[in-house]
Amino acid sequence: VESKLPDVGTTIFTTMSQLAQQHNALNLSQGFPDFDGHPYLKQRVTHYIEQGLNQYCPMSGYPALTAQIALKTQQCYQRSVDAASEVTVTSGATEALFAAIHAVVKAGDEVIVFDPAYDSYDPAIRLAGATPVHIPLAEDFSIDFALLDKHLTHKTSMIIINSPHNPTGTVLSKADMQQLEQRVIAEKLYLLSDEVYEHIIFDGEQHQSVNRFAELAKRSFIVSSFGKTFHTTGWKVGYCIAPPALTVELRKVHQYLTFCTVTPIQAALADMLAQHPEHYQQLPEFYQQKRDYLRNALVDSAFELLPCKGTYFQLVRYNKVSNKSELEFARWMTEQVGVASIPISVFYKQLTEQHLVRLCFAKNEQTIDQAAEKLCQL
Ligand code: PMP
Ligand code: GLN
Repeated sequence: VESKLPDVGTTIFTTMSQLAQQHNALNLSQGFPDFDGHPYLKQRVTHYIEQGLNQYCPMSGYPALTAQIALKTQQCYQRSVDAASEVTVTSGATEALFAAIHAVVKAGDEVIVFDPAYDSYDPAIRLAGATPVHIPLAEDFSIDFALLDKHLTHKTSMIIINSPHNPTGTVLSKADMQQLEQRVIAEKLYLLSDEVYEHIIFDGEQHQSVNRFAELAKRSFIVSSFGKTFHTTGWKVGYCIAPPALTVELRKVHQYLTFCTVTPIQAALADMLAQHPEHYQQLPEFYQQKRDYLRNALVDSAFELLPCKGTYFQLVRYNKVSNKSELEFARWMTEQVGVASIPISVFYKQLTEQHLVRLCFAKNEQTIDQAAEKLCQL
């Protein structure tokens, strides 16, 4: 077979989770909680399955859920979006990202991706016949706007951003968003904003959602995921908010990619949002506690803890522990120490070794204690 993606192998998340399992290591690699979703949410899924809500729902999403997404958008960001024409429920954020790219990016276009970047963007761009243009983030993982400007050409059609940022845990500021808005409007670009960690932001900071920037929002696809918000990564329900004209194009892809997303889970999520909005309102506090718990547990270790302002990932620098490359170190730590992590180098187009690995702290305190005990011995 002549591969369309010859350089793509198995994702690092699958690789490291498998390695963790083989070696019976604590799995702080792939990002998923080791605790369960809310009992009410699970009960509603069972309820709807037993009630017979088991057939296709409307292609654009279960109406009660799109209505709740619109309401949440109003409450969180004071933006009113029309559930019918601006909200689409997708099979995870992954589908929304893929569909948004394929909806507007044409063969020959260039799409800006900031490295380290989540792994699904690049192949989706290339499968659309376009060229990903990888721009490294600055040393503190902020966007270097001068460098961005150097890479904007007449072929650039889209910029992809992700805040709070996986894997670095940084967040974009209001000033960053204004800078982006300027470029997107001046160059008539599309913005694809990956906001799956929108409710996981710390230290009292406000998430600078594109929903807060009216002019920018007119040219943007905003993507989120209930997997992150409700501790249910295996359910793969996400959504995309975009203006009506962009949503029309997005749905042309979505209707042939998946058509619709699992009906009883959408109905249950609608109930959860209606009955328990405090769940996502309290998520910053919930995860901040876990972040601090992990950081405190590692405070006397040989690892340097980088700042973490959002997501459920903590970057640690291991240069005092080892000289290995990030990939080698992550493998060694899984096999020999019993703690699995994710190397950061895999999220760069250009090999970049910074002696950094990512630890997921969406874990019970017991898991964090056990991992920290092992890491503190290094
Ligand atoms: N974007 C980012 C930055 C992510 O971390 C993830 C989850 N791993 C996704 C997108 C995909 O989300 P989902 O599981 O809902 O497809
Ligand atoms: N987003 C998750 C992470 O960053 C992994 C998702 C996946 O396994 N594809 O760990």
